[in-house]
Amino acid sequence: MAITAIKGFNDILPEESGRWQHIEQAARRVFELNGFAEIRVPVMEKTELFSRSIGDATDIVEKEMYTFTDKGDNSVTLRPEGTAGVMRAFIEHKLYAQDPVAKLYYMGPMFRYERPQKGRYRQFHQIGAEITGVHDPLADAQVLTMLVSFFREIGLTEPVLQINSLGCPDCRPAYREALLAFLEGRLEHLCEDCRRRFTTNPLRTLDCKVPRCVEATAGAPSVLEHLCGGCGEHFAAVQGYLESIGTPYTINPRMVRGLDYYTRTTFEMVTGLLGSQSAVAAGGRYDGLISQLGGPAIPGIGFAMGVERVALLLGEQDFSSRPDLFIATMGAGERAFAFRLMQELLGLGVRVELDYEGKSLKSQMRRADKLGARYSVVVGGNEAASGRAFFKRMEDGIQIEVPLAADDIAKLFL
Ligand code: ATP
Ligand code: MG
Repeated sequence: MAITAIKGFNDILPEESGRWQHIEQAARRVFELNGFAEIRVPVMEKTELFSRSIGDATDIVEKEMYTFTDKGDNSVTLRPEGTAGVMRAFIEHKLYAQDPVAKLYYMGPMFRYERPQKGRYRQFHQIGAEITGVHDPLADAQVLTMLVSFFREIGLTEPVLQINSLGCPDCRPAYREALLAFLEGRLEHLCEDCRRRFTTNPLRTLDCKVPRCVEATAGAPSVLEHLCGGCGEHFAAVQGYLESIGTPYTINPRMVRGLDYYTRTTFEMVTGLLGSQSAVAAGGRYDGLISQLGGPAIPGIGFAMGVERVALLLGEQDFSSRPDLFIATMGAGERAFAFRLMQELLGLGVRVELDYEGKSLKSQMRRADKLGARYSVVVGGNEAASGRAFFKRMEDGIQIEVPLAADDIAKLFL
């Protein structure tokens, strides 16, 4: 029996990889325009990195991590998200030594043991960006606006930006108490997970997608009414900056995030088009994370988007690249001639395809059509001898006579 891929681990086939490249290239363009540089970190880290940063009482650490003991008896984990590894590298290589303000982006596979479904996989891909070293809400506004402009760049009007503030270690405990008091009387209406969260991580009950939990927590106290002075001002300033440049957003006071390290601003890009996989990108400020991981007290803010979900939103649009020219040949001698011409044209940046196997002219033309070539040309004995041939523009059939020389042919594509 043939071996298949592991459940929840997908192949990105050529028909789809064009869409992925479109997304990745747009992200690089937008992020680099904003002054972000790429960082590449390992896909596997010491398990402790994730339990310490993401938090022991989160879905990710409790249930979703791919954790192994390696042959040296070390506990290692395939990264479930990007920020922890990036900040580990930031600290390890003292990237803050010259300047605590760093703008970094990354892309690559992440791993979570979840129930696979549309938009939710066990190996999935994130593109993320982080700014360190800025307390000012200007950093929040820049990151949010960059994220929104990325979606504009790839031509999507969905998803839309939702923001919230989770407060800080000064004000969150009081909110936690208020929420616990509210939840206490409603415990029997909550799902089993949320009853456990009541003691371990009560804010997470607001994020539960089980309908009876959504109903039971509908009237829960709002975190925004419990922000301390500093957090309230910060959140107001973020909104002020967004409004000053016309970045559209809505406030969602029920948005909590599945990672413990967030403080103050949190946000999601949300769509109604992907069922319960509604978050296409998500992130927030993490002012305590770097010091929690043993680094200096440097704040940070960032996000990650799920590439599979962005690709689903892009739908069936065709991003595959097409050859400029298909050269059909009539015999072995012409094929050798066409092969040389092809190499010269490739050198000039013209994408050329030809027939490798001496197929019939009819089947060569079918292949030119199938590949979506912009032009085709038939090179037979006459053309090779006269050094001229008719180039057919495939979309309308118009024929243009051009010398069979790379420089002349390349002019068709300038
Ligand atoms: P969800 O609520 O859908 O589980 P999350 O809060 O766990 O998402 P984050 O940890 O914030 O997601 O990750 C950021 C983004 O990564 C998500 O918005 C989503 O687009 C994507 N993502 C997360 N988990 C998966 C997965 N298992 N498969 C595909 N994409 C994912
Ligand atoms: Mg999740």
